[in-house]
Amino acid sequence: MKKLIIANLKMNTKPSEFKDYAMTLATKAKLSKNSIVVCPPFTHLVAAREFLGGSKVAYGAQNISDEEKGSFTGEISASMIKDLGATYVILGHSDRRNKFKENDKLINKKIKTALANGLKVILCVGESLQVRESKQASAFVRKQIDDDLKGIYENELEGVVIAYEPIWAIGTGKNATNKDISKMVGVIRKEIETQFSAKAAQKAIVIYGGSITINNYKKIISNEDINGVLIGGASLDVENFSVIVRENY
Ligand code: PEP
Repeated sequence: MKKLIIANLKMNTKPSEFKDYAMTLATKAKLSKNSIVVCPPFTHLVAAREFLGGSKVAYGAQNISDEEKGSFTGEISASMIKDLGATYVILGHSDRRNKFKENDKLINKKIKTALANGLKVILCVGESLQVRESKQASAFVRKQIDDDLKGIYENELEGVVIAYEPIWAIGTGKNATNKDISKMVGVIRKEIETQFSAKAAQKAIVIYGGSITINNYKKIISNEDINGVLIGGASLDVENFSVIVRENY
């Protein structure tokens, strides 16, 4: 089964190091049957255009401003990354929600801005350990989906990938079990059905992210309930990441 495999490099690597990364990945991914996306820091996007442009590997950013242009010092707009050939943007990552205090209202505005500029959105949702332990995980994720996708038209959902990323599993080495993943993916699809339609739920692209490594990737990516994965730490080693993207699932 063809999977969507996304790398989130977060705030790691330098632009000068990205050339090798991109060239290696572009070469190794050539015959892959999967869809591959790399999201490096903004500063790497020029190199991404140069070394990934025209390859099998798409690229995107890890954030955008909710504003289109103007006096927003230090911000980067959707049209700027689009102009560099980016096709995706990660929004709602728990780093942004927790460390930069981004709320669902802001994330919703960013999603609309991204879609209006022709970018595909990788929308991250997921509960904390505390929420999970209080048995509120499903309700919490359902509310994130509702709030983040408010006012989005059903036909626009084609441009949205929903990444279930339980916060307790990100960068902790404690990835969710396939049972946990399938259960929450079911919850997410059901919510899409409630908010949009059964057809939208069936077509929705839902992926998982959280502590996927070169040792556990096969078992997780082969889960038929998910359309793919978002990989942080394990995507930094391009050799390992290349192994993961070349596999048939
Ligand atoms: C992430 O940051 O989106 C992520 C999934 O990280 P990791 O794979 O390192 O848990």
